[in-house]
Amino acid sequence: MYQSPTPLHTLEDYLKYFFGYDSFRPGQRQIIEAALENRDLLAIMPTGGGKSLCFQLPALLKPGITVVVSPLIALMQDQVDALVDNGIGATFLNSSLDWDEVRSRTQAIFKGKIKLLYVAPERLLSERFLGFLDELANSIGINCFAIDEAHCVSDWGHDFRPEYRQLQLLRYRYPSVSFMALTATATNRVQGDIIQQLRLREPTIHVASFNRPNLYYEVIPKERRSYNQLLKKVRSFSGSGIIYCLSRRRVDDIAFRLSQDNIAALPYHAGIEDKTRSQNQTRFIRDDVQIIVATVAFGMGINKPDVRFVIHYDLPQNLERYYQESGRAGRDGEPAYCTLFYGGSDLGTINYLIDQKQDQNEQRIARQQLTQMLDYVEGTECRRTIQLSYFGEKFAGNCDNCDNCRNPKPIEDWTIEAQKFLSCVARCRERFGMTHIINVLRGSSNKKIAQNGHHLLSTYNIGKDRSVAEWKLLARSLLHQGLMAETNDGYRVLKLNKRSWEILRSQRSVQIAVPQQDKAADLALSSRSLEVELLTERLRRLRKQIADVQAVAPYVIFADSTLKVMAHNKPQSLEEFQQISGVTEYKLQQYGERFVSEIRAFCWQQTTPVMTPSSTQLITLQLYQQGLDVDAIATERGLKSRTIINHLSELLEMNQPIDLDCLVKPEHQQPIIQALEKIGDRSLTNLKEHLAHKYSYGEIQLVRGYWRRKRRESVS
Ligand code: ADP
Repeated sequence: MYQSPTPLHTLEDYLKYFFGYDSFRPGQRQIIEAALENRDLLAIMPTGGGKSLCFQLPALLKPGITVVVSPLIALMQDQVDALVDNGIGATFLNSSLDWDEVRSRTQAIFKGKIKLLYVAPERLLSERFLGFLDELANSIGINCFAIDEAHCVSDWGHDFRPEYRQLQLLRYRYPSVSFMALTATATNRVQGDIIQQLRLREPTIHVASFNRPNLYYEVIPKERRSYNQLLKKVRSFSGSGIIYCLSRRRVDDIAFRLSQDNIAALPYHAGIEDKTRSQNQTRFIRDDVQIIVATVAFGMGINKPDVRFVIHYDLPQNLERYYQESGRAGRDGEPAYCTLFYGGSDLGTINYLIDQKQDQNEQRIARQQLTQMLDYVEGTECRRTIQLSYFGEKFAGNCDNCDNCRNPKPIEDWTIEAQKFLSCVARCRERFGMTHIINVLRGSSNKKIAQNGHHLLSTYNIGKDRSVAEWKLLARSLLHQGLMAETNDGYRVLKLNKRSWEILRSQRSVQIAVPQQDKAADLALSSRSLEVELLTERLRRLRKQIADVQAVAPYVIFADSTLKVMAHNKPQSLEEFQQISGVTEYKLQQYGERFVSEIRAFCWQQTTPVMTPSSTQLITLQLYQQGLDVDAIATERGLKSRTIINHLSELLEMNQPIDLDCLVKPEHQQPIIQALEKIGDRSLTNLKEHLAHKYSYGEIQLVRGYWRRKRRESVS
């Protein structure tokens, strides 16, 4: 193993030396200290809490080997890749390896080169493997069994695996070896089961808070053209993301439409053939595609720490699920977004699914869970508080990192509006849906209204003062609050109930939380932070190149947070580079030169006067990198397309990352370049005439930007 030139004293020194981090996450230190005392441990931490480090660091500090039991081959592979890339002796043994491979790994183990050995539970308990463990215990020594995803021992949990139950055999066979069980399960019942099933001895129990402060939670009301909302949202994010949908058909549809809109996305659900499905997963983990669109089949076994957003396009079935699924975002502790789209029609689908359940009890539980889910989506208080209270954890509120805390929705009294709406439902004899009622209220002159004589109703045209969106907001809220009903037969006919009549008789008032106008995309970034983003993007590309050569996931090379700090601090020497959190001495040697020279090149370009993009150009560049075309950028920014072309052509001239081939067909470029060579680049009009008006001003201008840069490069 690589030796440190400086002596190490504290746990923090070792943390920096082996993993490159400067400080422990909450709970890690206590768990590691207990592990170093060889105590049995039960560590409960939310996803992303940093559980792995809790057994990895002690494994490196204790004599002997730590055997890690992990349920999924893909998970083992990821963890071992990451350790090896830190110069740490780790390996795994599982059914995916051939004989020669197993032999060479076993030899390395007996030579004492390995500190962490990962195995699947079914393998661990075979007679042959137990014989191997005996030998290991007698020669090298086993210092700990770390049982990852320990909730798999419990049939109360959602991932029960019978082979996990057998693990108690290890306790009897190796009584002096300590056990460390780790899980992200929140429920008490499963926790108790783990202690009992694994026969833990007076374990130190560490339960971390389930709060994930780096996650931003928001709920967005679904509009009719919800795909467009989704697309806009996706474009506003950068980095990897997961989009969850309820049905396979929806998954396929969304993945397809995103691809059509130039966003690299792949589908994942149980209906896709195994091989393709696992390829799609790998391509997501390796950052070949930005997005995976999935049913809930996707999740367990996804260890990708740099998922920057999780979008639920449909309402999840319960809050625990939502917590776990959205929690796949931001495991690396960096800011990440959890967005839930919610529309009234989801409610119809879920109610329908619940009605299909045969068992009355199951139906009742499902309804109760649905109500809790609705409390979350419709709640106007801190979303974090609602979630954590579901797990029995008290949270003070005001997290400042959810939509309700950042933009509190004012509560307004809409009793009069509700009376207008409900009386219109009554006058239409409770035979129509939401859209029709709104049309009547707003005095629409459509055919259906005339056919039914609804233009003659007293409620016709009494609601012009509110927009269609506002009426819908009211109608949905009446439904959610149980102040009006809707049929479940697929037609969604609005019906009045007891409470509706109380409102109509002025015995009950109606309060509505009114969302603020969706603020235009937050483009008011300073040019400094845009610069950081551009450099991060560039470093990301370098990381991807290196990862592809080594056939590992990019995050194995450096975490997102590390790239961000690099882009922020811009280290231009190896000494400065080593100071960055996430850079170990080992990584410094492996990758230092390449990253530092990339940063230097970037800084050089930024400081050369003619080559510095203005902040407005940088905003255009950012949108371009999100996959928008010229017209879409113009619309988004409220500028003319001509202006955007100006920006892009100047950005091309400044050698910013823009692909001319996506903007101008290659066969158009050649004649324009010839014209530039012949008559010079001064006048666009002359060039256009010279080219017999075959090409647009835009095309000529873009090629000119590119050509100017090439010419400058050739003379300098
Ligand atoms: P869990 O298994 O609890 O979901 P992991 O062990 O996969 O979480 O850790 C999540 C991410 O956090 C990983 O990328 C890991 O490298 C990183 N991490 C863990 N501990 C620290 C720390 N002390 N400082 C910075 N990053 C950390």
